[in-house]
Amino acid sequence: MSTEAQRGSTLESPAPQGAGADVLTTPFVDAPIFTRSRALRPTGKVLPEHARSHNRALVLQTLYTAGPQSRADVARETGLTRVTISDLVAELIAERLVIELGQREDARPGKPAILIDVDRAAFQIIGVDLSDHERFLGAIVDLDGVIVSRAEVSRDGATGEAAVALVDALVARLVAAATAPVLGIGVGSPGVVDPNGVIRSAPNLDWRGLDLQGRLHAAFDLPVHVGNDANVAVLAEHGASTSDDLLLVKVGHGVGAGLIIGGRPVIGGGFAAGEIGHVIVGTDGGPRCACGKSGCLETWLAVPRLTAQLDAIAETEHAASDREAILTEAGRRLGIVLAPVVGALNLSEVALSGPAELLDGPLALAAVDTLRTRTMAEHNRDLRLRMTEQAQDIVLRGAAVMVLSGQLGVS
Ligand SMILES: [Zn+2]
Repeated sequence: MSTEAQRGSTLESPAPQGAGADVLTTPFVDAPIFTRSRALRPTGKVLPEHARSHNRALVLQTLYTAGPQSRADVARETGLTRVTISDLVAELIAERLVIELGQREDARPGKPAILIDVDRAAFQIIGVDLSDHERFLGAIVDLDGVIVSRAEVSRDGATGEAAVALVDALVARLVAAATAPVLGIGVGSPGVVDPNGVIRSAPNLDWRGLDLQGRLHAAFDLPVHVGNDANVAVLAEHGASTSDDLLLVKVGHGVGAGLIIGGRPVIGGGFAAGEIGHVIVGTDGGPRCACGKSGCLETWLAVPRLTAQLDAIAETEHAASDREAILTEAGRRLGIVLAPVVGALNLSEVALSGPAELLDGPLALAAVDTLRTRTMAEHNRDLRLRMTEQAQDIVLRGAAVMVLSGQLGVS
């Protein structure tokens, strides 16, 4: 198997011309984040007719999580019979999802077992992040969650069909740069996205009822999964978390949240779970919001609003404390909105994703302080509010998890 460095360098290809957009592709290698990740729980009862695909996913998940092992090990681990495992593994080998790695070198009596593993180099995933206000980001991610190549396209204010064309050009570039068959395309988009990947509403991009999943599938003839950016981001965070109950607050041009409860993503009946940005904070009014209301969480916390407030600080000897006061107030407002959510769901973990220079400091401290004082201490003693460890790649990585989960039942 090639090393990560080699895999990175093989993707170094000149960016083709002609998309009418500023696209650059750079090789990049980083550490895997979901190699040993936590599995999302299946969301329904297993019916007899689904047993085979369930068992298939179980075998893949076992190998994906634990790494190389024998068929007998997999049988023990899954509780399936040796015959069933042999049958499923033969099918998975034929599909190039599993490979035989050779015999195990050990001193056990009898014939040495042949080790098998998920063929982690056989497929790649295209991840796309549409949540940035200024550019669309994309990456080629391997099955271990390592980003092997990146591309981006600047948005230049494009909305509607022009923005769709940019997504198309970005995906085309990534598909062309892939060095292995593409397992699927995962997209994290702002706005309300239904389970069929139709963007019901994304005001910033002027998308309404846009079947992005269908459009990309028709254009590239590959499996496509589209989700809300915060809901996609929390999938990546869950892989690196120790908790099965997790709220991720994503602060950028807007404010949104992704929620996993009992290991299951929560999307909501109207597909808008986690849309906390337009929840009004308190009864004291507040700045006017783009949605028409006053005092929405976004007006306190969204990056453009915070930056504008900080930029307006006069250069006096009070500048540092003025800055702290603004960030503290934003954190307090966040804590006020989160408190009933944390209390109602008895959450123990809240992660923040966004610019660390704004969030990590007085803002996060004020948020957790407000959360603790507003919830029942004895039930929230272990409550942690922390910055995400996924940095700016959280949506790209989450998009890859979405494809792995959707295509292979692996997460
Ligand atoms: Zn609003």
